[in-house]
Parts: sequence; structure tokens; C-alpha cells
Amino acid sequence: MKAARATAAALLAFCASSAGADGSRCHGTVNRGSIEGSVQLPSEGANFTAYSKLAIGMGRNHVHSEVSAIILDAYRKLERAAPGVQYVYGESGNEFGGRFRPHRTHQNGLSVDFLVPVRDQGGRPARLPTPATQRFGYDIEFDRGARHGDYSIDFGAMAEHLLQLDQAARARGRGLALVIFDTAYLPRLFATPRGAELKRLKFMTGKPWVRHDEHYHVDFAVPCSR
Ligand SMILES: [Zn+2]
Repeated sequence: MKAARATAAALLAFCASSAGADGSRCHGTVNRGSIEGSVQLPSEGANFTAYSKLAIGMGRNHVHSEVSAIILDAYRKLERAAPGVQYVYGESGNEFGGRFRPHRTHQNGLSVDFLVPVRDQGGRPARLPTPATQRFGYDIEFDRGARHGDYSIDFGAMAEHLLQLDQAARARGRGLALVIFDTAYLPRLFATPRGAELKRLKFMTGKPWVRHDEHYHVDFAVPCSR
């Protein structure tokens, strides 16, 4: 009897920690994990697009259902908070998670890359080109002045995006576990109108294995079973 009750309690705890009946179920960690019932992010919306139709055709934009809901809530809020800005999301993960080359994480549906929002030479919001020949944008290098050709990083729009992601995550009882972005650019991000509010987020302070100048990586905090 006692054993049966313990089993039932364990089962309940498992269900509570791994999303609802139709939600995704993640396992393990971003470094070593998997996911069941993942969903694909939409290829585009009013103010965002995927980085590559080819890559999403290969299924490289799968995420946990909670992560999808958070991302889409944030984009909706940004239509008003950052009017005109064209956001581009990057790689997230495979349908069932697991090893996702060339990334070291992105294994359980909780990691998503976002290409930096940019402005053109005239200061107008633009969409960073992300052709397959430049590894869908990942090969783009921004200089010390945060410029690449005609484009410059829109730190204000990026700060607003991170704040909206954090707010949308917390509204659902979740959070952002980690943000990775080139540490040389962080002072410029923090210097934007709402930048000070970003200091409550956890940014990686060490050196990541690849430079994160053209994209920022976010790990979402959603409980997973082992
Ligand atoms: Zn990443």
C-alpha cells in the first residue's frame, strides 16, 4: 500500500514537472537530452521570420511547446513595444532532440538562437540577410562597432526582445535560464533605454566556444524529467 502510494506520488510529481497532456515532454539537459511531442515554430509572423526555409524544411526549428508559447507571446507584445522591427529566429533543435550539430547544446527543446535585429545605413529597421552560403547568417561577423556592411545591431530592439521573453516566460511560471551574447557588446545592450532591467537576467560571463555576435542564444527554464 505504502509502495503504491509512493509510486502514485512519484507519478504525480513526474506529470507536474513535465507539462500537460498535450504539451511536450523534455528529458535531461540542454547538453544531453531529448524531447517528445516537440512543436515547430511558425516560419513567419507579423514581425518575425525564420532564418531559413531550407533549414526549417529539415526540421531544425523544433522546440518545447512551452518555449513556443513564450516566444510567440513575446513577438505579439513586440508589435507594440518595438514597432517596425523585423525579428529573425535561428536554430533551435531536432524533432526528438539529441545531438544537434554543430551546436553543443540545443538537445531538449529548451535552447533557441535569435539573429540580432539590425538597422540599415539610414537607421531604418531591416532584416539581416541569412543565406545558406553564409551558413544561414551564422558566418556573418560584426565588427567592434557592431557593424556588418550596411547593417548595425539594433541593441534597443534586442533588449526589448529579451525583456519580453523574460516577461512572457514568467507569466507562464517559467523563466530564462541563460542568455549567451558576445560579452564585448553587453555594455551597449545595458546602455539602451531599458537595458538596466536586463541585469536581472543570467548572462554567460565566460567565453563561449563560438563567438555570439550575430546571434544570441537563450536557454529557457522549463522542468524536464531525467
Ligand atoms: Zn545556440
